[in-house]
Amino acid sequence: MGMRVYNTLTRQMETLEPLEPGHVRLYTCGPTVYDYAHIGNFRAYVFEDLLRRTIRLAGYRVTQVMNFTDVDDKTLRGAQAQGVSLDEYTRPFKQAFFEDCEALTIERAEHYPAATDHIPEMIALIERLLERGVAYRSDDGSVYFNIARFPSYGRLQRLNAAEMRAGARVAQDEYEKESAADFALWKAWDAADGAVAWESPWGRGRPGWHIECSAMSMKYLGESFDVHTGGVDNIFPHHENEIAQSEAATGKPFARYWLHCAHLGVEGRKMSKSLGNFHTLRDLLERGYSGREVRYVLSSAHYRQALNFTFAALDAARAALARLDTFVARLRERAGGAAAAPQSDWAAALRERMRAALFEDLGVADALAALFDLVHEGNRRMDRDELAPPAAAGVLALLDEADSVFGFLHGDSERPDERTLALIAERQAARAARQWADADRLRDEIAARGWRVKDTPNGPQAERLAQRADQP
Ligand code: AMP
Ligand code: ZN
Repeated sequence: MGMRVYNTLTRQMETLEPLEPGHVRLYTCGPTVYDYAHIGNFRAYVFEDLLRRTIRLAGYRVTQVMNFTDVDDKTLRGAQAQGVSLDEYTRPFKQAFFEDCEALTIERAEHYPAATDHIPEMIALIERLLERGVAYRSDDGSVYFNIARFPSYGRLQRLNAAEMRAGARVAQDEYEKESAADFALWKAWDAADGAVAWESPWGRGRPGWHIECSAMSMKYLGESFDVHTGGVDNIFPHHENEIAQSEAATGKPFARYWLHCAHLGVEGRKMSKSLGNFHTLRDLLERGYSGREVRYVLSSAHYRQALNFTFAALDAARAALARLDTFVARLRERAGGAAAAPQSDWAAALRERMRAALFEDLGVADALAALFDLVHEGNRRMDRDELAPPAAAGVLALLDEADSVFGFLHGDSERPDERTLALIAERQAARAARQWADADRLRDEIAARGWRVKDTPNGPQAERLAQRADQP
């Protein structure tokens, strides 16, 4: 089945047609590992995960590359401030990124190249640009891309002539479109870089941020590939510059479809450290929410719509997931060991609605509406004893298919966070010591984190509470 996506490059809905039949090559700009990724970043990664999973549901094989930006202005500043090497500084954030992805059931990409492992590829690309006369060396030993030599510069962002400052230069990795100018491909070493430098034909220095993604995407996906994504803040200058560097070097079209997700705000405001509403996934887990609940919130709004993250939405996610879990448990009991029957008309129609919604630019709102109609209708039929075991097994199979995209349907394997597990162990110890008051206090603390402990012959078992005992 075909799928359509909204292409930022053409500002149109287009049918996704991979260059190689049956195989979609996808590049997703990854984390700059100068800090823990925040939930705004994870909105982008969850969107990319939904995209990857939907492309697969549509019948394609996917090769996804997600890079680590582990050398740029921000990582260097961080390492300098802490007086540690770049590698020592970035390594824990890479590790944390994988842990967070796991908590959010984000599937692993096929490749995770790190910029610092691809400096020779970047140097080779810059050499090609110099040979073609679209780049030039500056007096200090840096190399700049000459935007005046690339006629379609500004096409992605739709810059107008007045916004192109011909002849001007910008050395920073990040800048506004008002400063569109020749940008750095290679930055000559300066004192702020500390011990970080690589040898190049132009002297010691380090790559600019944009050339990193051009070099790594083309290495793993070829000079022309299918889909390139990121958040809207990546459109300019990052993706604009990637297109310019890649196409100027190869003379071929770079990525064909550009998809960008809108930003995540928090409680109606921009997420920022100074407002105190800057959340990492870790912060939310620490408050007793689960990765599954966070994933639900991040994936339940359309990716091109601004998403307002609230604690009320997390609580609503908990209730919605509890409803799904109850439905699954009920279906399982009804199905027993029966083999799945072909979908009855009502279930087949809902399945089609769900698939059609996803294949139209990831219409998650419609797809979720169909999913909850399935819950409603399935419950209604079970209430009236109108769902035979094979039909119940069929609905379970349909839920598996839905989960192959949503990734939050199966809560069985859900484990409490480490802090909650520690509290459960403490409560066990208190009970064993007959310290009932302590045991009760711990039970309440556990409940406040969203869990109930059931004492079974096999020891304590944690169960998700449908409602949090406290409200933040
Ligand atoms: P960075 O680590 O800053 O390079 O960002 C990693 C990814 O997160 C990029 O795709 C950004 O566009 C995206 N991103 C950053 N902030 C937000 C936000 N508040 N909402 C959604 N996506 C974001
Ligand atoms: Zn990138």
